[in-house]
Amino acid sequence: MNRIKIGILGATGIVGTNYIKLLQEHPWFEIVDLAASPRSAGKTYEEAVKVKWHMTIPIPEDLKNKIVRDVQDFNSIASELSFVFSAINMPKKEQIKEVEFEYAKRGIPVISNNSAHRWTPDVPMIIGEINSEHVNVIPIQQKNRGYDKGFIAVKPNCSLQSYLTPIFALEKAGYKVDKIIVTTLQAVSGAGYPGVSSLDMIDNIVPYVGGEEEKTEKEPSKILGSVGETGIVPDESIQISATCTRVPVTDGHTASVNVKFKDKIPSQEEIIKIWTEFKAEPQKLNLPYAPSQPIIYLDNIDRPQPRKDRDNDKGMAVTVGRLRKDNVFDYKFLSLSHNTIRGAAGGSLLTAELLKAKGFLT
Ligand code: NAP
Repeated sequence: MNRIKIGILGATGIVGTNYIKLLQEHPWFEIVDLAASPRSAGKTYEEAVKVKWHMTIPIPEDLKNKIVRDVQDFNSIASELSFVFSAINMPKKEQIKEVEFEYAKRGIPVISNNSAHRWTPDVPMIIGEINSEHVNVIPIQQKNRGYDKGFIAVKPNCSLQSYLTPIFALEKAGYKVDKIIVTTLQAVSGAGYPGVSSLDMIDNIVPYVGGEEEKTEKEPSKILGSVGETGIVPDESIQISATCTRVPVTDGHTASVNVKFKDKIPSQEEIIKIWTEFKAEPQKLNLPYAPSQPIIYLDNIDRPQPRKDRDNDKGMAVTVGRLRKDNVFDYKFLSLSHNTIRGAAGGSLLTAELLKAKGFLT
């Protein structure tokens, strides 16, 4: 089968290198273009990525000598490129917005990890298991902006799926959620490379991660929203209060969640049954990177743990544990998912597979 030719913008960063690992031998997609900042442009990939390659596999032979392109060198974009994953970091969000718009305008769909376009109303923010129907805003976006084949789709903040997937599964089963209080314990890889200094992280917890609490509280409303005439209409029916911290863990964002239901309250057994039986469109479509069981519940009193559970089902499953009654709200639990896989490269790879299955990527 002829694989779809794709590019990675920000190929030298933490998320970019994760794409390279995950896309090795992908049945549908083949990497043909690697792009990064002007610092890396013109170098071979091996030279550009040097000390920043932290994957557990060596740099793939066919990419080592590929010359890295400047993300903003639009004239050298290969004509064979079908779409790009974007994992760029630039000083200003406006710059990222412009770069991503430029690719879309040139007919190249962009599937982005960046927060720049998350609140652009006609850009879908997708978690495959929650709102796959939001792909239907893409024709609206193309019409609004006069794009032919190009469009932008984004994934949410890297810790969101840890708590929102279990919450969504309960809502879908008919148990409407009123309020949640969530405290995230976020891994250092979430800050990119080189990230937070070792002197700040070793033997320590940093009680503030810039911008994360706002994203944690606000992004669910767009994800749980519906497709309107000009874009996504947010659903603000769940009140969320968040505290986000950085902890000395390499990969895997944990969330401690307290939940209060609107009216009907499920039993503990029902909640665990709902979670373990939860399946959604990526599973029904049998997408290559979909976890077979999106939510795994562990009975062990001391789980989930990042080191033991972040890689469950290719790093794509959300692992939940310690469900118990809450004296103030109704229940509390802990949930965990891999931030650079499920929360970044793997999550957006799943979105790309969904978009291909629905005919948006050719
Ligand atoms: P990173 O390790 O700092 O990598 C940043 C990438 O952007 C590198 O490839 C870098 O290229 C490129 N870049 C930097 N300045 C640029 C410029 N002026 N023009 C073009 N490219 C430029 O960051 P990361 O952790 O991979 O994150 C990438 C994006 O994904 C960010 O928006 C981040 O918020 C988001 N994200 C990250 C995670 C996570 O867990 N890490 C999760 C979800 C979303 P050079 O090597 O040439 O500098």
